[in-house]
Amino acid sequence: MIEAARSTWPEVAAHVSATSGVAILPFGALEQHGPQLPLSTDTATAEEVARRLASLLDAVLLPPVHYGETWNNAGYPGTVSLSPGTVTAIAKDIGASLVLSGVRVFVIVNGDWGNRAPLALAARELVDEGVIPALVLDYPGMDAAIDEVRESRPAAPGLNHAEEVETSIMLAIDPSTVHPERYVAEYPDFPADFGTRPMQLHPFSPSGVFGDPSSATAAKGEAILARTVDESRRAIEEFLAGLEDQAS
Ligand SMILES: [Zn+2]
Repeated sequence: MIEAARSTWPEVAAHVSATSGVAILPFGALEQHGPQLPLSTDTATAEEVARRLASLLDAVLLPPVHYGETWNNAGYPGTVSLSPGTVTAIAKDIGASLVLSGVRVFVIVNGDWGNRAPLALAARELVDEGVIPALVLDYPGMDAAIDEVRESRPAAPGLNHAEEVETSIMLAIDPSTVHPERYVAEYPDFPADFGTRPMQLHPFSPSGVFGDPSSATAAKGEAILARTVDESRRAIEEFLAGLEDQAS
């Protein structure tokens, strides 16, 4: 694998022509993650998954996008959000630009829930317009891995925000960024229409935690990351095999 940001242009050119020409972009967010985790939690997680994938697949690792669509966290200072159209435009511009570098497959590792729809649109348009084959990974395998290790009750089904899961992941990636002495548990009373209409999150959790981080461990985080990387690698390999079938 080659890390684009730390490499020279001839090194990237040589790597792309000698390999299957896959480039991997971690797409994160600057978003509140409670009092105990950094605003860059989603970026760090996407970057870790992308780095492991780049190593396994001998791909180009691109520097992460540190901002994403995180409108519903606007009530927490430090959160900085892009509009969905900007997320789509950034991903499309990077995909189109990579073609000029000889990259032949564009993989996005998405770390933020709000980026899902705009990144899916970017990939669709890149493919529709014949720019470059593109794949967006929203952490395949992560939900199954979470089910196996989680001990705390989720605040809502499928909601993993600044609680046991995300705190475990950050303990595995970079424990120096985690502040266990600031752990709080929050189990908001959500209205029946939660998630069905645009809603800001801060009225439901003053701390920004949704759930309970107190049972977080690095071992749980590593198990979640390993399964996510494994399923992501399988998805990319299947995608590459499909492209080869089309070409032959
Ligand atoms: Zn997060």
